[in-house]
Amino acid sequence: MRKLASVSEIRSFLRPHRQAGRRIGFVPTMGALHEGHRSLVRRARAECQVVVVSIFVNPTQFGPNEDYAAYPRPLDADLALCREDGVDAAFCPPVEEMYAPDSATTVTVSRLTDGLCGAHRPGHFAGVTTVVAKLFNIVQPDVAYFGQKDAQQAVVIRRMVRDLCWPIEIVGCPTVRESDGLALASRNAYLSPAERQQALCLSAALNWACERIAAGERAVPALIEGMKRRIVDAGPCSIDYVEIVDADELTPKPRVEGRCLIATAVRIGKTRLIDNRVVDADRLAR
Ligand code: AMP
Repeated sequence: MRKLASVSEIRSFLRPHRQAGRRIGFVPTMGALHEGHRSLVRRARAECQVVVVSIFVNPTQFGPNEDYAAYPRPLDADLALCREDGVDAAFCPPVEEMYAPDSATTVTVSRLTDGLCGAHRPGHFAGVTTVVAKLFNIVQPDVAYFGQKDAQQAVVIRRMVRDLCWPIEIVGCPTVRESDGLALASRNAYLSPAERQQALCLSAALNWACERIAAGERAVPALIEGMKRRIVDAGPCSIDYVEIVDADELTPKPRVEGRCLIATAVRIGKTRLIDNRVVDADRLAR
């Protein structure tokens, strides 16, 4: 596996592969790799001839009071996991390589970034879409893999790629969870044992909502109320949001109809956790 830090190096590495017509798969990450990231890498490995993983903690997607400086950066362990999973190239640029000091260009996706995490993390999605646009231009993959864990991000990237006519297939991959239901996340490392236990309230609330929907409940306010109660009852926390929205347009739904995204973001101690489920009400028995 090659570890490459500059744009010119990764371009030189990929050029012969592209000329030979090999399918290039790309997994963008911020490192601190876990089984969630690795599921994306393994899918890429199974479907592509060349697999590139980027490891870049992108400063522009963190707010001024967020955890950019504290974000875990276990680069050697990450590279070992990439090697184990058969990655061909790990692209690990320093910040200066990705952002010139006089950089003046931002890529933004409107509407889809207004709600959910966008409403609570101003500027976050502009940072994400700008860095992913740059990475797509650098790597020029045939296919890129994103986790359903970050559901809004996947919707936003898909729309950006379609709107900008990039010839890149976007593959969404299911959320990988611990055996007790907690969605894997690099930020789980911040949780104390008690907070780790409390954090199960996110997946428990989502499961409860899915069960209610399967049992016939369609009223969104009752579902949101019940989810919030379950989260609050688990212990002290601050709920950023609990919402049920259209899974593709991310617009609020008064009733559960069609494909819905049930999404939540909760702060437990200093850690902000997100989780979601997609339900297709039309495919349920009632
Ligand atoms: P991050 O390093 O947090 O930027 O995540 C990189 C990619 O891994 C994104 O596409 C995430 O959605 C995906 N990812 C993170 N956690 C999980 C998970 N538990 N299951 C599946 N994909 C995940």
